[in-house]
Amino acid sequence: MGVTLADILSARRVIRGAADATPLVPSAFMSRVAGQEFLLKLETAQPIGAFKLRGAMNAVLTRPDATRGVVCCSTGNHGRGVAHAARLRGLRAVICMSHLVPKAKVEGIRALGAEVRLHGASQDEAMAESARLCAAEGLVEISPFDDPAVIAGQGTIGLEMLEQRPDLAAILVPLSGGGLAAGIAVAAKAVNPRLRVIGITMERGAAMAASIAAGHPVEVAEHVSLADSLGGGIGLANRLTFPICRALLDDIVLVSEEDIRHAMQVLYFEDRMVAEGAAVVGLAAVLSGRLTGFAGPVATVITGRNLDMATFTRLICGQDVALGDQILKGRAYAA
Ligand SMILES: *Cc1c(COP(=O)(O)O)cnc(C)c1O
Repeated sequence: MGVTLADILSARRVIRGAADATPLVPSAFMSRVAGQEFLLKLETAQPIGAFKLRGAMNAVLTRPDATRGVVCCSTGNHGRGVAHAARLRGLRAVICMSHLVPKAKVEGIRALGAEVRLHGASQDEAMAESARLCAAEGLVEISPFDDPAVIAGQGTIGLEMLEQRPDLAAILVPLSGGGLAAGIAVAAKAVNPRLRVIGITMERGAAMAASIAAGHPVEVAEHVSLADSLGGGIGLANRLTFPICRALLDDIVLVSEEDIRHAMQVLYFEDRMVAEGAAVVGLAAVLSGRLTGFAGPVATVITGRNLDMATFTRLICGQDVALGDQILKGRAYAA
Protein backbone atom coordinates (compact mmCIF):
# COMPACT_ATOMS: atom_id res chain seq x y z
CA MET A 1 0.00 0.00 0.00
CA GLY A 2 3.05 2.31 0.23
CA VAL A 3 2.39 3.35 3.83
CA THR A 4 1.89 0.89 6.70
CA LEU A 5 0.86 0.97 10.34
CA ALA A 6 4.56 0.55 11.22
CA ASP A 7 5.37 3.79 9.33
CA ILE A 8 2.66 5.59 11.29
CA LEU A 9 3.90 4.22 14.63
CA SER A 10 7.42 5.39 13.80
CA ALA A 11 6.11 8.82 12.70
CA ARG A 12 4.49 9.11 16.07
CA ARG A 13 7.85 8.65 17.80
CA VAL A 14 9.48 11.22 15.50
CA ILE A 15 6.90 13.98 16.05
CA ARG A 16 6.13 13.31 19.72
CA GLY A 17 5.98 16.49 21.75
CA ALA A 18 6.08 18.77 18.70
CA ALA A 19 2.83 17.90 16.91
CA ASP A 20 0.60 15.42 18.71
CA ALA A 21 -1.98 14.83 21.41
CA THR A 22 -4.96 17.01 20.49
CA PRO A 23 -8.29 16.63 22.31
CA LEU A 24 -11.27 14.64 20.98
CA VAL A 25 -14.34 16.33 22.41
CA PRO A 26 -18.07 15.62 22.09
CA SER A 27 -20.47 18.08 20.43
CA ALA A 28 -23.88 17.94 22.10
CA PHE A 29 -25.57 19.74 19.21
CA MET A 30 -24.02 17.58 16.48
CA SER A 31 -24.76 14.42 18.51
CA ARG A 32 -28.47 15.34 18.45
CA VAL A 33 -28.36 15.93 14.68
CA ALA A 34 -26.38 12.76 13.91
CA GLY A 35 -28.42 10.49 16.22
CA GLN A 36 -25.13 9.13 17.57
CA GLU A 37 -22.43 10.59 19.75
CA PHE A 38 -20.49 13.02 17.54
CA LEU A 39 -16.90 13.95 18.39
CA LEU A 40 -14.54 16.67 17.20
CA LYS A 41 -10.78 16.01 16.86
CA LEU A 42 -9.35 19.45 17.52
CA GLU A 43 -6.30 19.78 15.25
CA THR A 44 -6.92 23.51 15.54
CA ALA A 45 -4.96 23.15 18.80
CA GLN A 46 -1.67 22.40 16.97
CA PRO A 47 1.02 25.11 17.30
CA ILE A 48 0.39 26.23 13.68
CA GLY A 49 -3.42 25.99 14.02
CA ALA A 50 -3.71 23.00 11.69
CA PHE A 51 -2.91 19.26 11.50
CA LYS A 52 -0.37 19.66 8.67
CA LEU A 53 2.43 20.09 11.20
CA ARG A 54 2.31 16.32 11.84
CA GLY A 55 3.19 15.30 8.28
CA ALA A 56 5.60 18.19 7.77
CA MET A 57 7.48 17.44 11.00
CA ASN A 58 7.83 13.79 10.12
CA ALA A 59 9.02 14.57 6.58
CA VAL A 60 11.47 17.35 7.53
CA LEU A 61 12.95 15.38 10.44
CA THR A 62 13.43 12.15 8.45
CA ARG A 63 15.17 13.66 5.37
CA PRO A 64 18.92 13.69 6.17
CA ASP A 65 19.61 14.96 2.60
CA ALA A 66 17.82 18.26 3.29
CA THR A 67 21.00 20.10 4.31
CA ARG A 68 20.45 23.05 1.88
CA GLY A 69 16.84 23.47 2.91
CA VAL A 70 13.33 22.43 1.96
CA VAL A 71 10.76 23.70 -0.55
CA CYS A 72 7.07 23.00 -0.97
CA CYS A 73 3.94 24.33 -2.57
CA SER A 74 0.96 24.90 -0.36
CA THR A 75 -2.52 26.41 -0.05
CA GLY A 76 -1.25 27.65 3.26
CA ASN A 77 -1.30 25.11 6.07
CA HIS A 78 1.30 22.73 4.64
CA GLY A 79 3.51 25.75 4.07
CA ARG A 80 3.08 26.75 7.70
CA GLY A 81 3.88 23.23 8.80
CA VAL A 82 7.04 23.00 6.69
CA ALA A 83 8.15 26.50 7.75
CA HIS A 84 7.68 25.65 11.43
CA ALA A 85 9.40 22.26 11.14
CA ALA A 86 12.34 23.71 9.13
CA ARG A 87 12.83 26.44 11.71
CA LEU A 88 12.99 23.82 14.49
CA ARG A 89 15.72 22.03 12.47
CA GLY A 90 17.50 25.28 11.53
CA LEU A 91 16.90 24.81 7.79
CA ARG A 92 16.05 27.26 5.00
CA ALA A 93 12.40 26.91 3.85
CA VAL A 94 10.90 28.25 0.59
CA ILE A 95 7.11 28.06 0.24
CA CYS A 96 5.46 28.34 -3.21
CA MET A 97 1.79 29.36 -3.38
CA SER A 98 -0.71 30.37 -6.04
CA HIS A 99 -2.21 33.87 -6.07
CA LEU A 100 -5.55 32.31 -4.91
CA VAL A 101 -4.20 31.79 -1.40
CA PRO A 102 -5.73 34.24 1.14
CA LYS A 103 -3.40 37.00 2.35
CA ALA A 104 -3.77 35.97 5.99
CA LYS A 105 -2.15 32.63 5.18
CA VAL A 106 0.72 34.20 3.23
CA GLU A 107 1.49 36.56 6.13
CA GLY A 108 1.26 33.68 8.61
CA ILE A 109 4.00 31.82 6.74
CA ARG A 110 6.30 34.84 6.41
CA ALA A 111 5.95 35.31 10.16
CA LEU A 112 7.38 31.80 10.65
CA GLY A 113 10.60 32.91 8.96
CA ALA A 114 10.12 31.19 5.57
CA GLU A 115 10.61 32.73 2.09
CA VAL A 116 7.33 32.95 0.14
CA ARG A 117 7.14 32.69 -3.68
CA LEU A 118 3.72 33.61 -5.14
CA HIS A 119 3.41 31.92 -8.53
CA GLY A 120 0.52 31.30 -10.96
CA ALA A 121 -3.26 31.13 -10.57
CA SER A 122 -3.57 27.50 -9.51
CA GLN A 123 -2.06 25.04 -7.10
CA ASP A 124 -0.69 23.07 -10.09
CA GLU A 125 1.34 26.10 -11.26
CA ALA A 126 2.69 26.63 -7.76
CA MET A 127 3.64 22.93 -7.76
CA ALA A 128 5.64 23.39 -10.97
CA GLU A 129 7.55 26.31 -9.43
CA SER A 130 8.37 24.21 -6.37
CA ALA A 131 9.75 21.43 -8.61
CA ARG A 132 11.87 23.99 -10.51
CA LEU A 133 13.40 25.41 -7.30
CA CYS A 134 14.11 21.92 -6.07
CA ALA A 135 16.26 21.23 -9.13
CA ALA A 136 17.77 24.72 -9.44
CA GLU A 137 18.72 25.36 -5.79
CA GLY A 138 19.28 21.87 -4.40
CA LEU A 139 16.35 22.05 -2.03
CA VAL A 140 14.46 18.95 -0.94
CA GLU A 141 10.82 19.09 -1.96
CA ILE A 142 8.20 18.12 0.62
CA SER A 143 4.91 17.25 -1.13
CA PRO A 144 1.80 18.44 0.72
CA PHE A 145 0.26 14.97 0.46
CA ASP A 146 1.98 12.54 -1.95
CA ASP A 147 4.93 11.61 0.30
CA PRO A 148 5.06 8.52 2.53
CA ALA A 149 6.45 10.48 5.50
CA VAL A 150 3.70 13.12 5.19
CA ILE A 151 0.96 10.48 4.96
CA ALA A 152 2.41 8.61 7.95
CA GLY A 153 2.55 11.84 9.97
CA GLN A 154 -1.11 12.64 9.23
CA GLY A 155 -1.95 9.01 10.05
CA THR A 156 -0.93 9.58 13.67
CA ILE A 157 -4.26 11.42 14.01
CA GLY A 158 -6.11 8.17 13.29
CA LEU A 159 -4.05 6.24 15.85
CA GLU A 160 -4.68 8.88 18.49
CA MET A 161 -8.44 8.97 17.81
CA LEU A 162 -8.75 5.19 18.16
CA GLU A 163 -6.80 5.22 21.41
CA GLN A 164 -9.02 8.02 22.71
CA ARG A 165 -12.20 6.26 21.52
CA PRO A 166 -11.78 2.61 20.47
CA ASP A 167 -15.56 2.40 19.95
CA LEU A 168 -15.68 4.82 16.98
CA ALA A 169 -17.82 3.49 14.11
CA ALA A 170 -16.91 6.14 11.55
CA ILE A 171 -14.40 8.94 10.93
CA LEU A 172 -15.33 11.81 8.59
CA VAL A 173 -12.17 13.24 7.00
CA PRO A 174 -11.85 16.50 5.04
CA LEU A 175 -10.37 15.45 1.68
CA SER A 176 -8.21 17.29 -0.83
CA GLY A 177 -4.90 15.75 -1.96
CA GLY A 178 -5.72 12.83 0.32
CA GLY A 179 -2.68 12.71 2.62
CA LEU A 180 -4.88 13.11 5.68
CA ALA A 181 -7.53 10.63 4.52
CA ALA A 182 -4.95 8.07 3.37
CA GLY A 183 -2.99 8.25 6.64
CA ILE A 184 -6.09 8.03 8.82
CA ALA A 185 -7.53 5.19 6.71
CA VAL A 186 -4.31 3.12 6.92
CA ALA A 187 -4.16 3.60 10.71
CA ALA A 188 -7.86 3.11 11.37
CA LYS A 189 -8.36 0.05 9.15
CA ALA A 190 -5.26 -1.62 10.62
CA VAL A 191 -6.68 -1.19 14.12
CA ASN A 192 -10.36 -1.88 13.28
CA PRO A 193 -11.16 -3.02 9.72
CA ARG A 194 -14.89 -2.42 10.25
CA LEU A 195 -14.48 1.27 11.03
CA ARG A 196 -15.81 3.40 8.16
CA VAL A 197 -13.57 6.18 6.84
CA ILE A 198 -15.44 8.69 4.71
CA GLY A 199 -13.81 11.51 2.75
CA ILE A 200 -15.68 14.81 2.55
CA THR A 201 -14.93 17.62 0.15
CA MET A 202 -16.57 20.56 -1.64
CA GLU A 203 -18.72 20.10 -4.76
CA ARG A 204 -16.68 22.45 -6.95
CA GLY A 205 -13.17 21.12 -7.59
CA ALA A 206 -13.43 17.65 -6.00
CA ALA A 207 -10.23 16.28 -7.56
CA MET A 208 -9.95 12.97 -5.65
CA ALA A 209 -13.63 12.12 -6.20
CA ALA A 210 -13.34 12.85 -9.95
CA SER A 211 -10.13 10.83 -10.18
CA ILE A 212 -11.58 7.79 -8.41
CA ALA A 213 -14.65 7.98 -10.68
CA ALA A 214 -12.38 8.15 -13.76
CA GLY A 215 -10.12 5.33 -12.53
CA HIS A 216 -6.98 7.49 -12.75
CA PRO A 217 -5.81 10.94 -11.57
CA VAL A 218 -7.55 13.74 -13.48
CA GLU A 219 -7.36 17.54 -13.37
CA VAL A 220 -10.39 19.56 -12.31
CA ALA A 221 -11.08 23.29 -12.62
CA GLU A 222 -10.30 25.21 -9.43
CA HIS A 223 -12.85 27.57 -7.90
CA VAL A 224 -12.68 29.98 -5.00
CA SER A 225 -14.30 28.20 -2.05
CA LEU A 226 -14.94 28.77 1.64
CA ALA A 227 -12.91 25.55 1.94
CA ASP A 228 -9.79 27.09 0.36
CA SER A 229 -7.55 24.55 2.11
CA LEU A 230 -9.23 21.82 0.04
CA GLY A 231 -8.32 23.48 -3.29
CA GLY A 232 -5.90 21.99 -5.81
CA GLY A 233 -5.53 18.74 -7.71
CA ILE A 234 -4.08 15.40 -6.64
CA GLY A 235 -1.29 15.56 -9.27
CA LEU A 236 -1.48 13.66 -12.56
CA ALA A 237 1.60 11.66 -11.48
CA ASN A 238 0.06 10.80 -8.10
CA ARG A 239 1.80 7.74 -6.64
CA LEU A 240 0.39 7.15 -3.17
CA THR A 241 -2.74 8.96 -2.05
CA PHE A 242 -4.82 8.04 -5.11
CA PRO A 243 -4.35 4.26 -4.78
CA ILE A 244 -4.70 4.37 -0.97
CA CYS A 245 -7.86 6.51 -1.01
CA ARG A 246 -9.35 4.40 -3.80
CA ALA A 247 -8.71 1.19 -1.87
CA LEU A 248 -9.55 2.30 1.67
CA LEU A 249 -12.16 5.08 1.66
CA ASP A 250 -15.67 3.70 2.16
CA ASP A 251 -17.30 6.71 0.53
CA ILE A 252 -16.72 10.30 -0.61
CA VAL A 253 -19.40 12.90 0.09
CA LEU A 254 -19.55 16.35 -1.55
CA VAL A 255 -20.94 19.47 0.15
CA SER A 256 -21.98 22.90 -1.18
CA GLU A 257 -20.71 26.34 -0.19
CA GLU A 258 -24.05 26.95 1.63
CA ASP A 259 -23.56 23.69 3.57
CA ILE A 260 -20.05 24.80 4.56
CA ARG A 261 -21.22 28.27 5.63
CA HIS A 262 -23.95 26.72 7.81
CA ALA A 263 -21.46 24.28 9.37
CA MET A 264 -19.07 27.13 10.24
CA GLN A 265 -21.97 28.92 11.92
CA VAL A 266 -23.02 25.77 13.79
CA LEU A 267 -19.50 25.18 15.12
CA TYR A 268 -19.29 28.82 16.19
CA PHE A 269 -22.75 29.32 17.73
CA GLU A 270 -23.32 25.84 19.18
CA ASP A 271 -19.78 24.71 20.09
CA ARG A 272 -18.19 28.21 20.36
CA MET A 273 -15.32 27.31 18.04
CA VAL A 274 -13.61 29.04 15.13
CA ALA A 275 -12.57 26.83 12.19
CA GLU A 276 -11.85 27.09 8.46
CA GLY A 277 -14.37 26.03 5.83
CA ALA A 278 -12.18 23.03 5.03
CA ALA A 279 -12.32 21.96 8.66
CA VAL A 280 -16.11 21.77 8.95
CA VAL A 281 -17.03 19.74 5.85
CA GLY A 282 -17.64 16.67 8.06
CA LEU A 283 -20.24 18.63 10.02
CA ALA A 284 -21.64 20.00 6.74
CA ALA A 285 -22.18 16.48 5.35
CA VAL A 286 -24.23 15.49 8.40
CA LEU A 287 -26.09 18.80 8.81
CA SER A 288 -27.17 18.75 5.14
CA GLY A 289 -28.54 15.22 5.47
CA ARG A 290 -26.08 13.84 2.91
CA LEU A 291 -24.64 11.45 5.50
CA THR A 292 -26.96 9.54 7.88
CA GLY A 293 -27.39 6.17 9.59
CA PHE A 294 -24.24 5.83 11.68
CA ALA A 295 -23.81 2.50 13.49
CA GLY A 296 -22.05 4.03 16.52
CA PRO A 297 -20.03 7.05 17.68
CA VAL A 298 -18.77 9.18 14.81
CA ALA A 299 -15.90 11.68 14.77
CA THR A 300 -14.63 14.31 12.37
CA VAL A 301 -11.27 16.05 12.22
CA ILE A 302 -11.51 19.82 12.73
CA THR A 303 -8.44 20.28 10.57
CA GLY A 304 -7.51 23.96 10.93
CA ARG A 305 -8.43 27.48 12.00
CA ASN A 306 -6.24 29.64 9.78
CA LEU A 307 -8.80 31.89 8.17
CA ASP A 308 -9.32 35.52 7.34
CA MET A 309 -11.09 36.85 10.44
CA ALA A 310 -12.80 39.76 8.66
CA THR A 311 -14.46 37.37 6.20
CA PHE A 312 -15.26 34.93 9.00
CA THR A 313 -16.92 37.65 11.06
CA ARG A 314 -19.11 38.70 8.11
CA LEU A 315 -20.09 35.11 7.42
CA ILE A 316 -20.92 34.42 11.07
CA CYS A 317 -23.10 37.55 11.22
CA GLY A 318 -25.08 36.45 8.15
CA GLN A 319 -23.62 38.98 5.70
CA ASP A 320 -22.74 38.36 2.04
CA VAL A 321 -19.29 36.94 1.34
CA ALA A 322 -17.37 37.21 -1.96
CA LEU A 323 -16.18 33.93 -3.47
CA GLY A 324 -14.01 35.10 -6.37
CA ASP A 325 -16.39 36.76 -8.87
CA GLN A 326 -19.45 35.26 -7.18
CA ILE A 327 -21.30 36.28 -4.04
CA LEU A 328 -22.42 33.82 -1.41
CA LYS A 329 -25.67 35.39 -0.16
CA GLY A 330 -25.60 35.98 3.58
CA ARG A 331 -27.87 34.09 5.92
CA ALA A 332 -28.30 34.70 9.65
CA TYR A 333 -27.74 31.60 11.76
CA ALA A 334 -30.75 29.62 12.85
CA ALA A 335 -30.43 26.12 14.31
C1 LIG B 1 -4.58 20.28 3.74
C2 LIG B 1 -5.86 20.44 4.48
C3 LIG B 1 -6.91 19.51 4.34
C4 LIG B 1 -6.85 18.35 3.36
O1 LIG B 1 -5.77 17.49 3.53
P1 LIG B 1 -5.24 16.58 2.32
O2 LIG B 1 -4.18 15.74 2.90
O3 LIG B 1 -4.75 17.50 1.23
O4 LIG B 1 -6.42 15.80 1.81
C5 LIG B 1 -8.04 19.70 5.12
N1 LIG B 1 -8.17 20.77 5.96
C6 LIG B 1 -7.19 21.66 6.13
C7 LIG B 1 -7.39 22.79 7.09
C8 LIG B 1 -6.00 21.54 5.40
O5 LIG B 1 -5.04 22.46 5.56
